[in-house]
Amino acid sequence: MILSRQKPLEEILEYLNGEKKVFLLGCNGCAQASGTGGPEQVEEMKARLEEAGKEVTGSDVIDFLCNKALIKSRLRNKIKEIEAADSILVMTCGIGIQATAASVNKVCHPACDTVNLGGSRGEWVGSERCMECGECLLEYTGGICPLTACTKGLTNGQCGGASHGKCELSPERDCGWELIYKRLKDLNRLDILKKFIAPKDYSKMVPEPGLMSTSRWALEKTDAKEGS
Ligand code: SF4
Ligand code: SF4
Repeated sequence: MILSRQKPLEEILEYLNGEKKVFLLGCNGCAQASGTGGPEQVEEMKARLEEAGKEVTGSDVIDFLCNKALIKSRLRNKIKEIEAADSILVMTCGIGIQATAASVNKVCHPACDTVNLGGSRGEWVGSERCMECGECLLEYTGGICPLTACTKGLTNGQCGGASHGKCELSPERDCGWELIYKRLKDLNRLDILKKFIAPKDYSKMVPEPGLMSTSRWALEKTDAKEGS
């Protein structure tokens, strides 16, 4: 289980600034359980965005947005609605947003922040990783997490040490910031790189007050122990 929290509407509208049409994508897995991206929340978001003057070209809720094969096969039926939109608003955790951004050639905006569960992680398919930082930055990095894709976790890359596309610290790994650059170039959004990302507030990684007394926390901890 990966826990997410919806970003404030003002922040989402800031992401959509300059765009008129958007496609909504939710997740029937952890996001549905978190109350952030299931069918109900997607319908609510549609109404809120329409009220704010946006046109929603279509929507879908996929069982597991962390599964790229599933995303690609399901979205085949939605090509027209997606093409008609300026972007996709992805209502799920950092893994699902990254998997979607890797599966479609479209700007993907994150609608949620992934909440830190204090080291407990769900299982997911695919290579995308999220360290549950509590303040998702995927809006500024073409849907590739800078904290996990860059070995140094730089939020304003690149460090200058990469060689032939590989990281200076781990030559077996692709340089995360080169991947981000290439993704933004493919999306014709290199302008995003001009934005300076303020130093990260890592206090947002501290599990939220009250979370540790919930049954969800107890279940996640039990799963983590059994899996170790
Ligand atoms: S920026 Fe990365 S670590 Fe933070 S929530 Fe997004 S995907 Fe997860
Ligand atoms: S070479 Fe690339 S991935 Fe490695 S630390 Fe520098 S920016 Fe990050």
